[in-house]
Amino acid sequence: MESTLAACREAVEKGADMIEVRFDRMVALPEDLAPFQAFEKPMVATLRTSRQGGGYSGPDAVKLSFLKEAARTGFQYIDLELDFPLLTKAQKELKGAKLIISQHDHHKTPSPSLMVQALVTCAAKGDVAKVAYHATSMEDVLRLTEAAKLYSQTGNQFVAISMGERGSVTRACYENMGAAFTYATLHKERPTAPGQIDLVALRALDGEKVVAGVVGQSLSHSLSAWMHNAAFRSLSLPGLYLKFQMDRHELTAFTELVGELGVRGFNVTIPYKGAIIELLDKVDPEAERIGAVNTVLNTGGDLVGFNTDVYGVQMTFEKAAFDPKGRKVLVVGAGGAARSVLTHLSRSQAEIFLYNRTKAKADELAQTFGGTTVVSKEELTQMEFEAVVNCTPLGMKGYPDELPVDISVLRPGQFVMDTIYNPARTKLVIAAEERGAKAVSGRDMLIYQAMKAFSVWTGILPDYEVMLAGFQEGISR
Ligand code: NAP
Repeated sequence: MESTLAACREAVEKGADMIEVRFDRMVALPEDLAPFQAFEKPMVATLRTSRQGGGYSGPDAVKLSFLKEAARTGFQYIDLELDFPLLTKAQKELKGAKLIISQHDHHKTPSPSLMVQALVTCAAKGDVAKVAYHATSMEDVLRLTEAAKLYSQTGNQFVAISMGERGSVTRACYENMGAAFTYATLHKERPTAPGQIDLVALRALDGEKVVAGVVGQSLSHSLSAWMHNAAFRSLSLPGLYLKFQMDRHELTAFTELVGELGVRGFNVTIPYKGAIIELLDKVDPEAERIGAVNTVLNTGGDLVGFNTDVYGVQMTFEKAAFDPKGRKVLVVGAGGAARSVLTHLSRSQAEIFLYNRTKAKADELAQTFGGTTVVSKEELTQMEFEAVVNCTPLGMKGYPDELPVDISVLRPGQFVMDTIYNPARTKLVIAAEERGAKAVSGRDMLIYQAMKAFSVWTGILPDYEVMLAGFQEGISR
């Protein structure tokens, strides 16, 4: 009981407008509810049954009498499930409090018509209708958003939530669906429902907010949220950066969702930097030429694509005081990162050499980026380069810890850039330094591309130091 009261106090301190007490999460139901009268915020009493994903499995009659006591003691809202067998009785006996009539499905999202029907039925039985369904895809999240928007035309108070990580965006942008409020967690590590955003982060979104995030297939190690959220905090901007992990087929629904919910923009990472292009309304000419978009801006429903990786490369070269003009630079790899590096090098009029495991891909890139000579593995060792850039994943955490080129390619006085940033010191960086070269990791490329993306969404270029601190915090976890 004491820890529940402490959590309520913490919620008040962190700025909650209402406080939901999940009595079904307590070890035992408290006998005395009077201590909850100390809170001036509207209080919600919930005793969620296990059928609806909660922790209460006792008799319905006990549940009703407990909730009656909660209403009598001053809880302004009582949450009751639509399928509660004593609902009609409860409606009569819980007259003093407002009823939130809710429906949950922790496994799936129903069809849009069933969702609207559930909202209508919930509303007919109480004061606030609430639906929360687990989303297994962005298509589910889009369907829920559309159903909520349709229902919002009734003007009735309602809450609609997509549960799970994909659905976090319905919590961050709940007003854009017409919902009256949403639920936050006090502690990110212990949400009461999957996908909940922590209260401090949600509270910080008051005002003209910027909700952004990263789209990719596997984002558990992504550092972008650490960097962007650090920038939002340091600038006191009402912003939040989420992770939008999804499979390829979900991209279309996601881009629609961005328009529906007013998401300001998003980053795109492996393997969707190319695939996203056909789903955008406009693409910046440079990003089009590169064939890769890593940053998207939502301008009133139109999605515009940019590539800020090139800026990351440019800044890395500038910081190293290496001007590529007229200098022999070897690029290893022919994927997305190589395209960004080649863009900067060809713009800077470097003499470019390109090596890739699959030669055909290198040939294709050399055609796009003029002034590029494709070289074989054998030729490499007989040539001298003033700079070497690794654009393969060799050396990255989880990949073979190998040098992308023969060690003899690395020479004193050279500038060596690895696009990999995890680990901080790759085998290539270590070997290059040992041979007297100046070597940097891909950390600055990542930070500068993030800074530029942030400025695309907000008009503000954040401090390098702030994003670096976010990066370091993320990588140390
Ligand atoms: P990608 O499009 O998949 O391209 C990967 C390239 O690496 C391809 O050319 C591929 O050769 C080559 N490659 C893959 N495995 C290899 C192996 N075992 N041996 C030799 N070559 C191999 O990937 P990407 O997006 O360009 O990313 C490449 C690296 O850049 C990643 O490590 C990524 O972390 C890094 N990156 C960093 C930043 C940053 O901001 N710092 C940004 C983007 C990417 P084939 O053509 O023969 O398959």
